[in-house]
Amino acid sequence: MEEGESDLGERKGVWVFSEKHDLALEMLGKGREIADKLQTELAAVLIGFNVQARADELIEYGVDKVYLVDNKTLERFQVESYLGVLHDLAINYKPEIMLIGSTRNGRPLAARLATRLEAGCVPECTRLSVDEHGQLVGERITYGGSASAKIAFKTKPQIVTVPARVFEKPEPRNRGGQVIRLDVKAEEPKTAIVSVKPLEISGVRLEDADVIVSCGRGLEKREDVRLLDDLATVLGGVVGNSRPLAEDRKWFTEWVGLSGHKVKPKLYIACGISGVIQHVAGIRDAKVIVGINKDEQAPIFEIADYGVVGNLYEILPALKEAFKKQLG
Ligand SMILES: Cc1cc2nc3c(=O)[nH]c(=O)nc-3n(C[C@H](O)[C@H](O)[C@H](O)COP(=O)(O)OP(=O)(O)OC[C@H]3O[C@@H](n4cnc5c(N)ncnc54)[C@H](O)[C@@H]3O)c2cc1C
Repeated sequence: MEEGESDLGERKGVWVFSEKHDLALEMLGKGREIADKLQTELAAVLIGFNVQARADELIEYGVDKVYLVDNKTLERFQVESYLGVLHDLAINYKPEIMLIGSTRNGRPLAARLATRLEAGCVPECTRLSVDEHGQLVGERITYGGSASAKIAFKTKPQIVTVPARVFEKPEPRNRGGQVIRLDVKAEEPKTAIVSVKPLEISGVRLEDADVIVSCGRGLEKREDVRLLDDLATVLGGVVGNSRPLAEDRKWFTEWVGLSGHKVKPKLYIACGISGVIQHVAGIRDAKVIVGINKDEQAPIFEIADYGVVGNLYEILPALKEAFKKQLG
């Protein structure tokens, strides 16, 4: 069969791949559900160097097979090399479905793989299901968050990308899977990594914070973040934000929500955040949610434990003073 030909009948298996190990583990629960429904096997592809321990962990989490390509040249992610390996494996072992972690690296990898295989690719799926014909259906948010689209495939393999924290990591459930070590020759990358420097992260990570005071587009100027900082300091917390403050205004590099950090503080104060589904998806595990918004119809009030209707520029300083008095 020629590469790229759509062989609807012959393919089998659900594959999971992400260069981020946690994300690969998260996708295994959904992968298992789909594999069981299709009565096929669940496999993980693991690419890297000295990664046997990860292979063992994938087996512990219930995969039937790990296709392991362990090679010094694959120590760091490089799209050409990883693409070459995945493509080779897909041609030889013919998976029916491939779930690829939707990371900065995974998205271009999935798109290029789909192009090479002449297959369809549905990016950023927040839901996955199997229809009555045994076909995968990916669901993704579209039209700037105001609609969700269900997309089915006309070709195989059916390739989707899945963002982090969309699916829960399953409980470990070793089914006695096997590790298949493969010696795939990695393609020579066309770029070289000159250096990698870890970013310096100051303070507490959003995921670990007990109190988060978070701002949205209701905040007018960058310097007004100080208002949130002041309240967060009094409460011993950190400042968070909605996605547009990072992506559009570039005030922050990270954000809270479906495509950002999923947080679980004891207290989450959403200031000037409308509270649409993509934001709320990241704060569902917060113990107490407080919404501060001048629009009493704002969706944040549907999920908030406490709601304050009003101008954040008046409420934040007043709250800070009140807590200061209360907490001494
Ligand atoms: C695929 C996809 C993934 C996404 N992922 C995320 C995500 O992970 N996280 C995320 O946050 N967004 C995400 N979004 C964007 C999301 O759809 C919304 O656009 C975004 O959450 C809105 O941010 P906001 O609430 O800050 O702004 P807006 O929706 O503009 O809300 C601003 C709010 O501030 C209020 N306000 C204005 N002035 C004041 C004031 N002075 N005092 C009090 N209240 C005031 C307004 O009433 C309004 O409710 C995603 C979108 C897509 C398409």
